[in-house]
Amino acid sequence: MFKKICAASLTLTMPNYASAQAPVVATDIVPIHALVQAVMQGVGKPELVMPPGASPHSYSMRPGEALALENADLVFWVGEDLTPWLKRPITTLASDAEIITLINTPGIHILPLSHEDGTDPHLWLDPHNGDLWLSEIAQHLAEYDPENAARYWENAQLMQAKIEQVSNEIESMVIPTKNLKYITYHDSFQYFENAFSLPSVGSLLDSDAAQAGAGHFVEFQALLLENEVTCLLSEPGASQALISNMTYPTMRITQADPLGSDLVGAPDLYQNLLLNIAQALRACLEY
Ligand SMILES: [Zn+2]
Repeated sequence: MFKKICAASLTLTMPNYASAQAPVVATDIVPIHALVQAVMQGVGKPELVMPPGASPHSYSMRPGEALALENADLVFWVGEDLTPWLKRPITTLASDAEIITLINTPGIHILPLSHEDGTDPHLWLDPHNGDLWLSEIAQHLAEYDPENAARYWENAQLMQAKIEQVSNEIESMVIPTKNLKYITYHDSFQYFENAFSLPSVGSLLDSDAAQAGAGHFVEFQALLLENEVTCLLSEPGASQALISNMTYPTMRITQADPLGSDLVGAPDLYQNLLLNIAQALRACLEY
């Protein structure tokens, strides 16, 4: 009883300390949500605008998702190269919020698209970018909510150490796959390929997951044979018809989700997302 009274009077007399409200934060996709969540650990939980399993390249927002933007104090998103449909709702619905466009973070690795002009938007698949984004996220949260600044920075550093650890793990894991001749389903793994020096031969679909042109087929078959491609790194939602049309039956097929939708709710999502790609490539060897 005494304890209870004591706690109650504490909340009344100590302004805002333990009871301070966490900032309301909205994020675009699962991997960014995971990074922001890691920084906000112990303070609050960010909202996710795009549901897991949807394609960021083409999506239509639902009312509940609009609400997450309307209520937000801060919005973290990769940028319109990844989610062109999100640009308008962010400027109209989240007009009061601070918008942090992560593709503008100084020092991150940015790769061009493989087959056309523009920026490859799958930037989170390079752990170097994840690392720099954690500092960017912590800085904006700390500025907005100085009371929890120490917590944000501490969380970010903890997560950065975890990313370094998983990167080292992946480095040694992929050593046997250095000569693997593989293609990807859609051109989304370039950042991972680049970060760990594992270039793929090509991909069935371009970076925005648009269907390849009709003339692409013959050219692509030639590319596969010429390079003696043995492995396809596929992903959830891939078209089986397209895969069987474009590849040969002896090709080994393995799968990883570049968005980590299959990992939602599990701990260490960002690290496991990266680890899963390395594991998928290894699986192609050990088929
Ligand atoms: Zn994509």
